[in-house]
Amino acid sequence: MAIHSILLDYITFEEKALTNRFFKHKDVISLLKKLPSAFAVNELGTSVKGKSINAVKWGNGKTKVLLWSQMHGDEATGTMAILDLFNFLQEDNETVKLINDNCELLIIPMVNPDGAAMFTRRNAQQIDINRDFIQTTTPEGKILKQARNDFDPHFGFNLHDQTTLWSVDETLKPATLSYLAPAFDKGLSINQVRENAMLVIADMFKELDQILPHHIGLFDDEYEPRAFGDNFQKAGTSTILIEAGGYQDDTEKQQIRKYYFASILSGLISIASKNYENQKTENYFAIPKNNKQIFHVMINNLILNNIKVSVGINYDECPNTDGMSTFKSYSIQDIGDLSFCDAYEVYDANNCELKGDIVFNKAANFELIMEKQIILAFKDGYLLT
Ligand SMILES: [Zn+2]
Repeated sequence: MAIHSILLDYITFEEKALTNRFFKHKDVISLLKKLPSAFAVNELGTSVKGKSINAVKWGNGKTKVLLWSQMHGDEATGTMAILDLFNFLQEDNETVKLINDNCELLIIPMVNPDGAAMFTRRNAQQIDINRDFIQTTTPEGKILKQARNDFDPHFGFNLHDQTTLWSVDETLKPATLSYLAPAFDKGLSINQVRENAMLVIADMFKELDQILPHHIGLFDDEYEPRAFGDNFQKAGTSTILIEAGGYQDDTEKQQIRKYYFASILSGLISIASKNYENQKTENYFAIPKNNKQIFHVMINNLILNNIKVSVGINYDECPNTDGMSTFKSYSIQDIGDLSFCDAYEVYDANNCELKGDIVFNKAANFELIMEKQIILAFKDGYLLT
């Protein structure tokens, strides 16, 4: 069954208990408890703060696939997509049968529950787990490393979120999804292990590009010796990185999770059917690259110091202390000719009056007024209107 027709029924298997990015460990646990017996849930260990980290095993096939999500606590999209996948795998259809007959999945949702609690990238030791492969000082990193060693999977899905400021080369659209077969050495060599990951990604792109055209890019290809994906690739697991970026009017990533789920599913179909063996690495390298040509906010035709300029404004998203929401801090990130750029929100300052100062690299602190109406206002980096 083609991915686009599966997505027509997405609402029937979307996990409705998760409605934004701020769900916690207890929410995931209560969903794992509801899984039927075909899903074997096993506690692998605990986080710094004693929260269980669990693996879910499913499927009766020979090809082993490890999936892990949210090793960065504020990157929740992969976990939502995995919970959607659990629901989908309980349906009775030919796609589920194909995966069940050919794959054995080991899925670790929410590797970093303490980070999720605070909605931070890092764990409770303030360490980035995905830079801890070599020293393995974090209990969460130890658990993930051990899980791969014990299971020895053929394929791995490394599930992350990226900044919403990545765009897709030549499209000026947000990179809603990015894919990568991480390198296992500085020379970015390609062996059979990495090539298989590239071929699966080429299959995923072929499917998803039809559903989400111009919104999928290839993530930055640079070797990171401390990262898990790079080291799993080196250890013999064909590893596929998926990154969720931005999408218009989707701060909570409820649209993106659907495409993210579809990416994982199309990867699993490619692996289960061995379709990837018919792919070519050229099709992987033909995926457009990620670049940074979009802003969160852009103002065009603004007269500043007697010249007409465009202004690019971005926000940093910071968690509130309860970990249940964020605040955005806006700053001026570019001034000048931005004619090759785009933004989530674009304003035309023709016939507008500027009150306040626009200073490069400083917090946004101004008002844009048209015919006595404020159309955009910031106070010390906070968006007012
Ligand atoms: Zn990440």
